[in-house]
Amino acid sequence: MATVIFKRETDYDVGKIYDSLVEMIEIGGLSDKIKYGERILLKPNLLAARTPDSAVTTHPAVVEAVAKIVLDYSAIPIIGDSPGGAIRGTQRVLKNTGMLKISEKLGIETISLEAKSAIQIKLPDGKILHISKIINEVDGIINIAKLKTHSLVLMTLTVKNLYGLIPGFRKAEYHKIYPTPPKFARLVAELYSAVKDNLKFSVLDGIVGMDGNGPSSGQAHKFGLLALSDNPPALDFEIENIAGLKSHSPIMKELIKRNLVPQYEVKWLGEKIENFKNFKIPSNWYLYLAPAFLTKFLGKLVQVAPDVVDSKCIHCGDCMHSCPVDAITMIIEKTSPKFDYSKCIRCLCCHEICPTKAIIFKKSILAKFIK
Ligand code: SF4
Ligand code: SF4
Repeated sequence: MATVIFKRETDYDVGKIYDSLVEMIEIGGLSDKIKYGERILLKPNLLAARTPDSAVTTHPAVVEAVAKIVLDYSAIPIIGDSPGGAIRGTQRVLKNTGMLKISEKLGIETISLEAKSAIQIKLPDGKILHISKIINEVDGIINIAKLKTHSLVLMTLTVKNLYGLIPGFRKAEYHKIYPTPPKFARLVAELYSAVKDNLKFSVLDGIVGMDGNGPSSGQAHKFGLLALSDNPPALDFEIENIAGLKSHSPIMKELIKRNLVPQYEVKWLGEKIENFKNFKIPSNWYLYLAPAFLTKFLGKLVQVAPDVVDSKCIHCGDCMHSCPVDAITMIIEKTSPKFDYSKCIRCLCCHEICPTKAIIFKKSILAKFIK
């Protein structure tokens, strides 16, 4: 049976987080997961070049605590991800998120999954899933996710964090191939099935996470929670329960359909958190949660589309580069983006990548009434 372990943790004190994780690993019976001399990929959420206080990326204190534990076993930790923000340089992402500091302090390697070639896996629909070759070059992965809401798939937790194992531009390409939340969830479930045997265990940084219009434009929310499990779907299932979602996220629904959420036991170290207070889902999700017959009947009258707040835009061009269907035009350093809504597939990659929260959801008149 899988085990999910939670501990209330209210600040980013590396020493305290280290002690908590050591205890959680022991209680979870995972002490033999890391072996002498193994090369282990630490896979944080490094979505973009944002500082730790923005709650967009896994906090460096959590990554540092995990790295120290790996070093205790005389194993070799390597920090790596394929950031969405790689279009502006992986080094910048590693620096701003605090990963380079950890690397220098502990003398450990950081790698860019962009620079790695990919292995190819044939999916049931005949399409090819590309996963960074790193998974075959290390002895295992410790998945270190951030607790956040997600405007496309409602929540991003430990299973969705594995999406960063897909190198670079292909991530945006898959949004084009699998544009709706259920289709995208099927891809994530395929990815999880392909890499689950490479995982040592998963850690979730919910000390300060994000709610509202996540994964990058929401509000930092102090959940006060650190979690660890040998089974990512079990951990995510339990978090969605604590969040009190009316309906599970598309990724969770897909995992349940595929029998990938096992029986599991939950252990709380210390005080239990029954539910997240004032938890806000992304504003566009009220539409997805409305009765299907209603949204189908009203069709395009209840749509949500990206729009820009000109005063917040710094004309960086990241949104244009992230769009998988070339629905954005602009002159970099001069103008704000313009959207071609006849091309836009509502993948919300532009919203996810914008460094200034300048991209918002424009709701059609009827959509404004659904909440
Ligand atoms: S404009 Fe934004 S939401 Fe529309 S397809 Fe492009 S990236 Fe996706
Ligand atoms: S909307 Fe955001 S991502 Fe797009 S150019 Fe402006 S600041 Fe950059």
